[in-house]
Amino acid sequence: MSRLAVVCGGSRGIGRAVSRLLATRGCRVAIVSRNEDVAKATVKSLHGADHVALSCDVSKEQDVQKTFEMIQKTCGNISYLVNAAGINRDALLLRIRPEDMLPQLHTNLLGSMLTCRAALRSMLHTEGAAVVNIGSVVGMKGNSGQCVYSASKAGLEGFTRSLAKEVASRNIRVNLLAPGFIHTDMTLGLKEDRARSIPLGRFGEPEEVAQAVLFLLESSYVTGQVLVVDGGLQLAM
Ligand code: NDP
Repeated sequence: MSRLAVVCGGSRGIGRAVSRLLATRGCRVAIVSRNEDVAKATVKSLHGADHVALSCDVSKEQDVQKTFEMIQKTCGNISYLVNAAGINRDALLLRIRPEDMLPQLHTNLLGSMLTCRAALRSMLHTEGAAVVNIGSVVGMKGNSGQCVYSASKAGLEGFTRSLAKEVASRNIRVNLLAPGFIHTDMTLGLKEDRARSIPLGRFGEPEEVAQAVLFLLESSYVTGQVLVVDGGLQLAM
């Protein structure tokens, strides 16, 4: 039976590119996101068969639990988990509305914790199981206007390292990939002149991030690490 990969946030952007690449590598892919229609459209576009779309809000514990039970029941044990579900609500801390703070923490940080917790038992039963959490360079360097978002991503880094230690003895690996500016819906509002601050001189494409996610999923002696995929942006921050 081919490997089962669960990609949270797999319907659009970076997660969609990861789903596409994993499908071409023979994985069965379960795409988890809130909008089921968009997820179904992505599933339809994937190479091969046996992929599924599930509607789930990763920030809601019961939703996550129910969804992963369904995945286990209908698709079997999970080999790979990619946490690419994320949101941003950028504003200076003095201006940000409290109602825009918690959703970022709940989706970007708590969401990944909940999905890892729900997937781990199933992953114990597969050889070479691995998790990749999608962080951000701003979680490492900070960014004005992104205090809450960057805190969620910095928290994800600590979570990744700790979980890597907890599950290494069970041969499950956990790593974090930190992208810079990538062309997706999330960066639609950003001006391209931002690219001037990137040593490689351009935004990245989701497919370029997906390649690096695949590397982390398949690298059997790498765990608890952060891989930066940012065209050199971090060097200039
Ligand atoms: P997109 O906005 O293109 O896609 C986000 C994905 O996450 C969608 O599939 C969306 O589906 C899903 N999602 C959002 N909230 C939830 C939720 N509560 N529950 C389940 N699914 C959810 O974003 P990107 O592809 O750009 O971002 C992917 C990850 O990469 C995020 O964690 C982001 O923070 C990170 N990142 C992105 C960068 C960039 O430049 N693009 C830079 C650095 C990090 P739906 O709305 O249907 O739920």
